[in-house]
Amino acid sequence: MTTNIEQTLTNLSSQQKLQLIEQLRRKTEKANSSPVDLVDFSNFTERPVYKKMKQQIIQLEAIGFKNPYFKINQGIAKNTTKIDGQELINYSSYNYLGMSGDPKVSQVAKEAIDHYGTSVSASRLISGEKPIHLELEQEIANLVGAEDALVYVGGHSTNVATISHLFDKNDLIVCDLLSHNSIIQGCLHSGASLFSFAHNDWQALEKILQEKRASHQQALIVIEGVYSMDGDIPNLPQFIELRKRYKTALMIDEAHSIGVLGKSGHGIGEYFGVNPTDVDLWMGTLSKSLASCGGYIAGNKALVEYLKYTAPSFVYSVGISPPNAAAALAAIRLLNSEPERVERLAQRAKLFLKLAQEHELNTGLSQDSAVIPVIIGNSLQCIQLSEALFHRGINVQPLIYPAVSENTARLRFFISCTHSEEQIQFTVEAVADELKKIQS
Ligand code: PMP
Repeated sequence: MTTNIEQTLTNLSSQQKLQLIEQLRRKTEKANSSPVDLVDFSNFTERPVYKKMKQQIIQLEAIGFKNPYFKINQGIAKNTTKIDGQELINYSSYNYLGMSGDPKVSQVAKEAIDHYGTSVSASRLISGEKPIHLELEQEIANLVGAEDALVYVGGHSTNVATISHLFDKNDLIVCDLLSHNSIIQGCLHSGASLFSFAHNDWQALEKILQEKRASHQQALIVIEGVYSMDGDIPNLPQFIELRKRYKTALMIDEAHSIGVLGKSGHGIGEYFGVNPTDVDLWMGTLSKSLASCGGYIAGNKALVEYLKYTAPSFVYSVGISPPNAAAALAAIRLLNSEPERVERLAQRAKLFLKLAQEHELNTGLSQDSAVIPVIIGNSLQCIQLSEALFHRGINVQPLIYPAVSENTARLRFFISCTHSEEQIQFTVEAVADELKKIQS
């Protein structure tokens, strides 16, 4: 647990810190005293982990596929993108509301650079903050209906930092089996007893709570507003009910639901019409609907204040840059003044799902969200389909093991409100057509 050490270090004098580090060093020295094979770090090309990773790419290329990763997008990725000079209909970025690249959002970000520079260069706690930091946090709090919010510089690190800081070895954390890597990392770093329940199965969660809750101090349930691999939504009222009955905290990762769910895009809370105070930690990312980079936690005032003064990756890390803060702020204000973007997104996603189902494509559990998988099963066929679509002018990323479980390889389509109905019709027909060719 990084935070066991870090939390302790935060509260110690320099002299005490040195003593503690010395104690830890002696402890690990003892544990590592038996002889081991030396590994030469400088010869990284020979390291088994590197060779294994390289082999997978070489194998793909050997059977005639292009490396599907790190494609270079030449320009703004919205409903279309440009790769290798070719204009493609784009389904590979989470620009759900078309905010990234919107001239109004870009203009506000440019003005923030002129006013505040490109970096705040240090921790907000130490060197002070900018008015846009506080304005952004207030807008986020308003968006989800919480008392307050704080913004970290990354979405992934928001989960790792917050979970590992608030929970420790005396606690219980229960998360969905399909939780995002950042949630799992946060849980592991906390040192808490970690259990997972079958995807979206709140009854399975209840069984774990019945058995384990009483022997732990704090307990946390972590779920997502929309699951990023499948595009489905948890039954939030049931999870809230369990939170109350078993006196747990409830955290929701709204990376893919903020700006998407609910009539005005206020997320899963609005979608189900729940009381926002029934969720303890509203987490979200700024990188998707909100056209920026970073993550947030919204919740009650005391909790946010505590994190602002003590969460190591907030206290010891730089504040979000002025253009990023301004872009997210502008995106939220635009979302509020143009809620028709959310409606258009829902309509386009619905159309995609309907057409895909009419063509008997396997869209799995996807419902009411902007993430629509087309499950192929076989990894090679999935990569083949992605390449065939690329040649038809469609950019969609294949997802294969280990990103998803064996035999559930898929193409994952992120719908944007900027997609036209014609682009969606053309895409679904092309997918059905090319898949038939591959499987015949
Ligand atoms: N949570 C979920 C559910 C995600 O899908 C992602 C990334 N796509 C993150 C957190 C991390 O967000 P970011 O990419 O903004 O760091």
